[in-house]
Amino acid sequence: MGGSIRLGRILGITVQIHFTWFIALWAVAFSLAQGIFPSQLPNLTGDVYWTMGVAGALLLFASVLVHELGHALTARRFRISTRSITLFMFGGVAQIAREPEDPRHDFWVAAAGPATSLALAGLLRLAAPRAAGVPAGALLGYLAWANFLLAAFNLIPAFPLDGGRILRALLWRFLGVERATGITTALGHVVATALIILGVISILAGRTINGVWLILIGWFLDQGAGASYRQMMLRHALRGVRVRDIMTTQVIAMEPGLTIEQAVADYFLRHKHGGYPVMYGERLVGIVTLHDVKQVPRERWAETPVRDAMTPIAQAKTVRPGVSAYDALARMVQAGVGRLLVVDADGEMVGIVTRSDLMHVIRMRTELGAELPS
Ligand SMILES: [Zn+2]
Repeated sequence: MGGSIRLGRILGITVQIHFTWFIALWAVAFSLAQGIFPSQLPNLTGDVYWTMGVAGALLLFASVLVHELGHALTARRFRISTRSITLFMFGGVAQIAREPEDPRHDFWVAAAGPATSLALAGLLRLAAPRAAGVPAGALLGYLAWANFLLAAFNLIPAFPLDGGRILRALLWRFLGVERATGITTALGHVVATALIILGVISILAGRTINGVWLILIGWFLDQGAGASYRQMMLRHALRGVRVRDIMTTQVIAMEPGLTIEQAVADYFLRHKHGGYPVMYGERLVGIVTLHDVKQVPRERWAETPVRDAMTPIAQAKTVRPGVSAYDALARMVQAGVGRLLVVDADGEMVGIVTRSDLMHVIRMRTELGAELPS
Protein backbone atom coordinates (compact mmCIF):
# COMPACT_ATOMS: atom_id res chain seq x y z
CA MET A 1 0.00 0.00 0.00
CA GLY A 2 1.40 3.44 -0.85
CA GLY A 3 1.94 5.86 2.04
CA SER A 4 3.01 3.18 4.50
CA ILE A 5 5.88 3.19 6.98
CA ARG A 6 7.78 0.05 7.86
CA LEU A 7 7.53 -0.82 11.53
CA GLY A 8 9.68 -3.94 11.69
CA ARG A 9 9.45 -7.69 11.27
CA ILE A 10 7.50 -10.28 13.24
CA LEU A 11 8.08 -14.00 12.57
CA GLY A 12 9.80 -13.08 9.33
CA ILE A 13 6.92 -10.91 8.08
CA THR A 14 7.29 -7.17 7.44
CA VAL A 15 4.79 -5.13 9.42
CA GLN A 16 3.92 -1.68 8.14
CA ILE A 17 1.53 1.11 9.02
CA HIS A 18 -0.48 3.13 6.51
CA PHE A 19 -0.92 6.82 7.25
CA THR A 20 -4.72 6.39 7.63
CA TRP A 21 -3.98 4.19 10.65
CA PHE A 22 -3.20 7.31 12.69
CA ILE A 23 -6.69 8.67 12.00
CA ALA A 24 -8.27 5.48 13.31
CA LEU A 25 -5.91 5.36 16.30
CA TRP A 26 -6.93 8.87 17.26
CA ALA A 27 -10.65 8.19 16.71
CA VAL A 28 -10.60 5.01 18.82
CA ALA A 29 -8.53 6.60 21.62
CA PHE A 30 -10.91 9.59 21.64
CA SER A 31 -14.10 7.53 21.85
CA LEU A 32 -12.61 5.35 24.60
CA ALA A 33 -11.25 8.26 26.65
CA GLN A 34 -14.29 10.51 26.26
CA GLY A 35 -17.14 7.98 26.22
CA ILE A 36 -16.68 4.33 27.02
CA PHE A 37 -14.22 4.38 29.94
CA PRO A 38 -15.71 7.36 31.86
CA SER A 39 -19.14 5.68 31.77
CA GLN A 40 -17.72 2.38 33.06
CA LEU A 41 -15.34 3.74 35.70
CA PRO A 42 -16.44 7.19 36.89
CA ASN A 43 -14.34 9.38 39.24
CA LEU A 44 -11.00 9.02 37.46
CA THR A 45 -9.01 11.97 36.08
CA GLY A 46 -8.88 12.95 32.43
CA ASP A 47 -5.20 11.92 32.24
CA VAL A 48 -6.08 8.38 33.33
CA TYR A 49 -8.91 8.15 30.76
CA TRP A 50 -6.61 9.33 27.98
CA THR A 51 -3.87 6.89 29.00
CA MET A 52 -6.46 4.10 28.99
CA GLY A 53 -7.85 5.31 25.67
CA VAL A 54 -4.47 5.36 23.92
CA ALA A 55 -3.53 1.99 25.46
CA GLY A 56 -6.88 0.54 24.35
CA ALA A 57 -6.45 1.84 20.80
CA LEU A 58 -2.88 0.50 20.53
CA LEU A 59 -3.93 -2.88 21.93
CA LEU A 60 -6.88 -2.98 19.52
CA PHE A 61 -4.43 -2.63 16.62
CA ALA A 62 -2.17 -5.24 18.23
CA SER A 63 -5.25 -7.51 18.16
CA VAL A 64 -5.72 -6.76 14.46
CA LEU A 65 -2.06 -7.68 13.92
CA VAL A 66 -2.60 -10.99 15.75
CA HIS A 67 -5.64 -11.64 13.50
CA GLU A 68 -3.52 -11.06 10.38
CA LEU A 69 -0.72 -13.24 11.78
CA GLY A 70 -3.35 -15.97 12.15
CA HIS A 71 -3.93 -15.75 8.37
CA ALA A 72 -0.22 -15.48 7.57
CA LEU A 73 0.95 -18.40 9.70
CA THR A 74 -1.79 -20.65 8.35
CA ALA A 75 -0.82 -19.67 4.79
CA ARG A 76 2.76 -20.57 5.68
CA ARG A 77 1.64 -24.08 6.61
CA PHE A 78 0.50 -24.42 2.99
CA ARG A 79 3.85 -23.07 1.76
CA ILE A 80 2.41 -19.68 0.86
CA SER A 81 4.59 -16.87 2.16
CA THR A 82 3.33 -13.48 3.32
CA ARG A 83 5.06 -10.41 1.93
CA SER A 84 3.78 -7.97 4.50
CA ILE A 85 1.06 -7.08 6.95
CA THR A 86 -0.25 -3.52 6.71
CA LEU A 87 -2.34 -1.87 9.41
CA PHE A 88 -4.61 0.86 8.11
CA MET A 89 -7.77 2.75 8.97
CA PHE A 90 -10.17 -0.20 8.71
CA GLY A 91 -7.95 -2.90 10.18
CA GLY A 92 -5.22 -4.95 8.59
CA VAL A 93 -4.29 -6.72 5.36
CA ALA A 94 -1.89 -9.62 5.04
CA GLN A 95 -0.36 -9.59 1.57
CA ILE A 96 0.21 -13.22 0.72
CA ALA A 97 2.57 -14.03 -2.13
CA ARG A 98 0.00 -15.98 -4.13
CA GLU A 99 -3.62 -17.03 -3.93
CA PRO A 100 -4.23 -20.57 -2.69
CA GLU A 101 -5.03 -22.85 -5.61
CA ASP A 102 -6.87 -25.41 -3.50
CA PRO A 103 -10.23 -24.41 -1.97
CA ARG A 104 -9.37 -26.31 1.21
CA HIS A 105 -6.26 -24.18 1.71
CA ASP A 106 -8.22 -21.01 0.96
CA PHE A 107 -10.82 -22.08 3.53
CA TRP A 108 -8.28 -22.58 6.32
CA VAL A 109 -6.29 -19.44 5.53
CA ALA A 110 -9.51 -17.37 5.62
CA ALA A 111 -10.92 -19.07 8.73
CA ALA A 112 -7.70 -18.69 10.72
CA GLY A 113 -8.11 -14.90 11.19
CA PRO A 114 -11.58 -14.91 12.80
CA ALA A 115 -10.68 -18.07 14.76
CA THR A 116 -7.63 -16.30 16.20
CA SER A 117 -9.72 -13.25 17.14
CA LEU A 118 -12.38 -15.43 18.78
CA ALA A 119 -9.75 -17.31 20.79
CA LEU A 120 -8.20 -14.00 21.88
CA ALA A 121 -11.65 -12.65 22.85
CA GLY A 122 -12.26 -15.75 24.99
CA LEU A 123 -8.92 -15.45 26.80
CA LEU A 124 -9.43 -11.74 27.48
CA ARG A 125 -12.99 -12.39 28.68
CA LEU A 126 -11.65 -14.95 31.19
CA ALA A 127 -8.96 -12.54 32.40
CA ALA A 128 -11.21 -9.46 32.73
CA PRO A 129 -13.01 -10.30 36.06
CA ARG A 130 -9.63 -10.66 37.83
CA ALA A 131 -9.15 -6.91 37.45
CA ALA A 132 -12.78 -5.79 37.85
CA GLY A 133 -13.26 -2.23 39.02
CA VAL A 134 -9.79 -0.98 38.05
CA PRO A 135 -8.56 0.46 34.70
CA ALA A 136 -6.87 -2.80 33.63
CA GLY A 137 -10.20 -4.64 34.02
CA ALA A 138 -12.06 -2.10 31.87
CA LEU A 139 -9.32 -2.37 29.22
CA LEU A 140 -9.46 -6.18 29.20
CA GLY A 141 -13.26 -6.12 28.97
CA TYR A 142 -13.14 -3.65 26.08
CA LEU A 143 -10.51 -5.70 24.20
CA ALA A 144 -12.48 -8.93 24.68
CA TRP A 145 -15.53 -7.23 23.15
CA ALA A 146 -13.50 -5.61 20.35
CA ASN A 147 -11.89 -8.93 19.35
CA PHE A 148 -15.30 -10.59 19.33
CA LEU A 149 -16.64 -7.81 17.04
CA LEU A 150 -13.56 -8.14 14.83
CA ALA A 151 -14.27 -11.84 14.35
CA ALA A 152 -18.02 -11.29 13.86
CA PHE A 153 -17.62 -8.51 11.27
CA ASN A 154 -15.03 -10.46 9.32
CA LEU A 155 -17.30 -13.51 9.25
CA ILE A 156 -19.96 -11.67 7.22
CA PRO A 157 -20.14 -13.91 4.13
CA ALA A 158 -19.26 -11.23 1.58
CA PHE A 159 -16.05 -10.98 -0.45
CA PRO A 160 -13.40 -9.67 0.28
CA LEU A 161 -14.16 -10.23 3.99
CA ASP A 162 -12.92 -13.49 5.53
CA GLY A 163 -16.49 -14.85 5.67
CA GLY A 164 -16.77 -14.23 1.91
CA ARG A 165 -13.58 -16.19 1.31
CA ILE A 166 -14.87 -19.04 3.49
CA LEU A 167 -18.17 -19.11 1.57
CA ARG A 168 -16.28 -18.94 -1.73
CA ALA A 169 -14.10 -21.89 -0.71
CA LEU A 170 -17.26 -23.89 0.08
CA LEU A 171 -18.98 -22.95 -3.21
CA TRP A 172 -15.76 -23.39 -5.23
CA ARG A 173 -16.02 -27.17 -5.11
CA PHE A 174 -19.49 -27.23 -6.66
CA LEU A 175 -19.54 -24.16 -8.90
CA GLY A 176 -15.90 -23.59 -9.86
CA VAL A 177 -13.79 -20.65 -8.77
CA GLU A 178 -15.24 -18.10 -11.24
CA ARG A 179 -18.89 -18.51 -10.29
CA ALA A 180 -18.02 -18.81 -6.61
CA THR A 181 -16.07 -15.54 -6.79
CA GLY A 182 -18.88 -13.94 -8.80
CA ILE A 183 -21.51 -14.81 -6.18
CA THR A 184 -19.44 -13.80 -3.15
CA THR A 185 -18.31 -10.49 -4.70
CA ALA A 186 -21.96 -9.75 -5.55
CA LEU A 187 -22.72 -10.31 -1.85
CA GLY A 188 -19.82 -7.96 -1.10
CA HIS A 189 -21.53 -5.21 -3.11
CA VAL A 190 -24.86 -5.91 -1.34
CA VAL A 191 -23.28 -5.67 2.14
CA ALA A 192 -21.34 -2.56 1.12
CA THR A 193 -24.54 -0.88 -0.11
CA ALA A 194 -26.35 -1.85 3.10
CA LEU A 195 -23.57 -0.29 5.21
CA ILE A 196 -23.71 2.92 3.17
CA ILE A 197 -27.51 3.14 3.54
CA LEU A 198 -27.17 2.47 7.27
CA GLY A 199 -24.54 5.21 7.42
CA VAL A 200 -26.86 7.72 5.74
CA ILE A 201 -29.68 6.78 8.15
CA SER A 202 -27.29 7.23 11.11
CA ILE A 203 -26.30 10.70 9.89
CA LEU A 204 -29.96 11.67 9.47
CA ALA A 205 -30.59 10.40 13.02
CA GLY A 206 -27.85 12.71 14.30
CA ARG A 207 -25.18 10.08 14.85
CA THR A 208 -22.81 11.75 12.39
CA ILE A 209 -19.49 10.11 13.32
CA ASN A 210 -20.93 6.60 13.30
CA GLY A 211 -22.63 7.34 10.00
CA VAL A 212 -19.50 8.64 8.30
CA TRP A 213 -17.58 5.61 9.57
CA LEU A 214 -20.19 3.18 8.18
CA ILE A 215 -20.16 4.94 4.80
CA LEU A 216 -16.36 4.79 4.64
CA ILE A 217 -16.31 1.08 5.52
CA GLY A 218 -19.07 0.41 2.94
CA TRP A 219 -17.16 2.31 0.27
CA PHE A 220 -13.95 0.43 1.13
CA LEU A 221 -15.72 -2.94 0.91
CA ASP A 222 -17.27 -2.01 -2.40
CA GLN A 223 -13.86 -1.11 -3.85
CA GLY A 224 -12.39 -4.32 -2.48
CA ALA A 225 -15.14 -6.48 -3.96
CA GLY A 226 -14.71 -4.88 -7.40
CA ALA A 227 -10.92 -5.16 -7.32
CA SER A 228 -11.00 -8.81 -6.23
CA TYR A 229 -13.39 -9.66 -9.03
CA ARG A 230 -11.30 -7.96 -11.71
CA GLN A 231 -8.17 -9.62 -10.35
CA MET A 232 -9.84 -13.02 -10.50
CA MET A 233 -11.00 -12.44 -14.10
CA LEU A 234 -7.47 -11.44 -15.15
CA ARG A 235 -6.00 -14.43 -13.39
CA HIS A 236 -8.52 -16.65 -15.14
CA ALA A 237 -7.83 -15.10 -18.55
CA LEU A 238 -4.08 -15.62 -18.10
CA ARG A 239 -4.35 -19.08 -16.60
CA GLY A 240 -1.61 -21.43 -17.81
CA VAL A 241 0.13 -18.69 -19.84
CA ARG A 242 3.83 -18.17 -19.17
CA VAL A 243 6.00 -15.24 -20.17
CA ARG A 244 7.84 -17.36 -22.78
CA ASP A 245 4.52 -18.08 -24.55
CA ILE A 246 3.78 -14.44 -25.30
CA MET A 247 7.10 -12.58 -25.25
CA THR A 248 8.57 -10.99 -28.35
CA THR A 249 11.75 -12.82 -29.26
CA GLN A 250 12.64 -10.74 -32.34
CA VAL A 251 13.99 -7.96 -30.20
CA ILE A 252 15.38 -4.83 -31.82
CA ALA A 253 18.30 -3.60 -29.71
CA MET A 254 20.25 -0.32 -29.72
CA GLU A 255 23.91 0.40 -29.18
CA PRO A 256 24.78 2.48 -26.12
CA GLY A 257 26.76 5.02 -28.18
CA LEU A 258 23.81 5.99 -30.40
CA THR A 259 22.56 9.56 -29.82
CA ILE A 260 19.03 10.17 -28.65
CA GLU A 261 18.37 11.97 -31.93
CA GLN A 262 19.32 8.85 -33.94
CA ALA A 263 17.43 6.62 -31.53
CA VAL A 264 14.25 8.63 -32.02
CA ALA A 265 14.58 8.81 -35.80
CA ASP A 266 15.71 5.22 -36.45
CA TYR A 267 13.91 3.33 -33.68
CA PHE A 268 11.08 5.09 -31.87
CA LEU A 269 9.60 6.63 -35.02
CA ARG A 270 10.33 3.68 -37.32
CA HIS A 271 9.21 0.72 -35.21
CA LYS A 272 6.12 0.33 -33.10
CA HIS A 273 7.86 -0.26 -29.76
CA GLY A 274 7.97 2.15 -26.84
CA GLY A 275 11.14 0.69 -25.36
CA TYR A 276 14.34 -0.97 -26.59
CA PRO A 277 17.05 -3.01 -24.91
CA VAL A 278 20.52 -1.50 -25.09
CA MET A 279 23.23 -4.03 -26.04
CA TYR A 280 26.97 -3.55 -25.91
CA GLY A 281 27.94 -6.23 -28.39
CA GLU A 282 26.38 -9.39 -26.98
CA ARG A 283 25.96 -7.93 -23.52
CA LEU A 284 22.68 -6.47 -22.31
CA VAL A 285 23.44 -3.19 -20.50
CA GLY A 286 20.06 -1.53 -20.08
CA ILE A 287 16.73 -0.50 -21.52
CA VAL A 288 15.67 2.84 -22.97
CA THR A 289 12.02 3.83 -23.19
CA LEU A 290 10.08 6.77 -24.56
CA HIS A 291 9.75 7.93 -20.97
CA ASP A 292 13.58 7.96 -20.57
CA VAL A 293 13.97 9.91 -23.81
CA LYS A 294 11.47 12.54 -22.68
CA GLN A 295 13.60 13.22 -19.59
CA VAL A 296 16.32 14.65 -21.87
CA PRO A 297 15.68 18.23 -23.09
CA ARG A 298 15.08 18.36 -26.87
CA GLU A 299 18.12 20.61 -27.54
CA ARG A 300 20.46 18.01 -26.04
CA TRP A 301 19.27 15.05 -28.14
CA ALA A 302 22.03 15.42 -30.73
CA GLU A 303 24.85 15.17 -28.18
CA THR A 304 23.41 12.81 -25.52
CA PRO A 305 24.21 9.12 -26.01
CA VAL A 306 21.55 6.51 -25.24
CA ARG A 307 23.65 5.11 -22.37
CA ASP A 308 23.16 8.38 -20.43
CA ALA A 309 19.39 8.23 -20.76
CA MET A 310 18.78 4.50 -20.38
CA THR A 311 17.84 2.57 -17.24
CA PRO A 312 20.91 0.44 -16.47
CA ILE A 313 20.30 -3.31 -16.36
CA ALA A 314 20.85 -3.45 -12.58
CA GLN A 315 17.79 -1.20 -12.09
CA ALA A 316 15.74 -2.44 -15.03
CA LYS A 317 12.74 -4.66 -14.35
CA THR A 318 13.37 -8.15 -15.61
CA VAL A 319 11.47 -11.41 -15.54
CA ARG A 320 12.32 -15.06 -16.15
CA PRO A 321 10.68 -16.80 -19.14
CA GLY A 322 9.04 -19.44 -16.91
CA VAL A 323 7.17 -16.91 -14.73
CA SER A 324 3.38 -16.86 -15.14
CA ALA A 325 1.95 -14.08 -17.29
CA TYR A 326 -0.24 -12.98 -14.39
CA ASP A 327 2.78 -12.49 -12.11
CA ALA A 328 4.53 -10.57 -14.89
CA LEU A 329 1.50 -8.27 -15.17
CA ALA A 330 1.43 -7.80 -11.40
CA ARG A 331 5.13 -6.89 -11.47
CA MET A 332 4.59 -4.31 -14.23
CA VAL A 333 1.69 -2.71 -12.37
CA GLN A 334 3.63 -2.62 -9.12
CA ALA A 335 6.74 -1.12 -10.75
CA GLY A 336 4.73 1.25 -12.94
CA VAL A 337 6.45 0.09 -16.14
CA GLY A 338 5.04 -0.98 -19.49
CA ARG A 339 7.57 -3.71 -20.33
CA LEU A 340 9.88 -6.23 -18.75
CA LEU A 341 13.08 -7.63 -20.23
CA VAL A 342 12.93 -11.41 -20.26
CA VAL A 343 16.23 -12.72 -18.99
CA ASP A 344 17.13 -16.39 -18.54
CA ALA A 345 19.04 -17.97 -15.66
CA ASP A 346 22.41 -17.11 -17.28
CA GLY A 347 21.50 -13.42 -17.44
CA GLU A 348 21.04 -13.54 -21.19
CA MET A 349 18.15 -11.61 -22.73
CA VAL A 350 15.76 -13.91 -24.53
CA GLY A 351 12.92 -11.51 -25.23
CA ILE A 352 10.75 -8.65 -24.06
CA VAL A 353 7.20 -8.72 -22.76
CA THR A 354 4.92 -5.68 -22.73
CA ARG A 355 1.63 -4.72 -21.19
CA SER A 356 0.06 -4.64 -24.63
CA ASP A 357 1.20 -8.25 -25.24
CA LEU A 358 -0.61 -9.21 -22.05
CA MET A 359 -3.69 -7.14 -22.86
CA HIS A 360 -3.86 -8.80 -26.26
CA VAL A 361 -3.86 -12.27 -24.68
CA ILE A 362 -6.46 -11.21 -22.10
CA ARG A 363 -8.72 -9.76 -24.80
CA MET A 364 -8.41 -12.82 -27.03
CA ARG A 365 -9.02 -15.28 -24.24
CA THR A 366 -11.91 -13.29 -22.77
CA GLU A 367 -13.62 -12.92 -26.14
CA LEU A 368 -13.01 -16.44 -27.38
CA GLY A 369 -13.68 -17.85 -23.90
CA ALA A 370 -14.51 -21.52 -23.88
CA GLU A 371 -13.40 -22.09 -27.47
CA LEU A 372 -9.77 -22.01 -26.42
CA PRO A 373 -8.04 -25.05 -24.99
CA SER A 374 -6.92 -24.24 -21.45
ZN1 LIG B 1 -9.09 -11.57 8.35
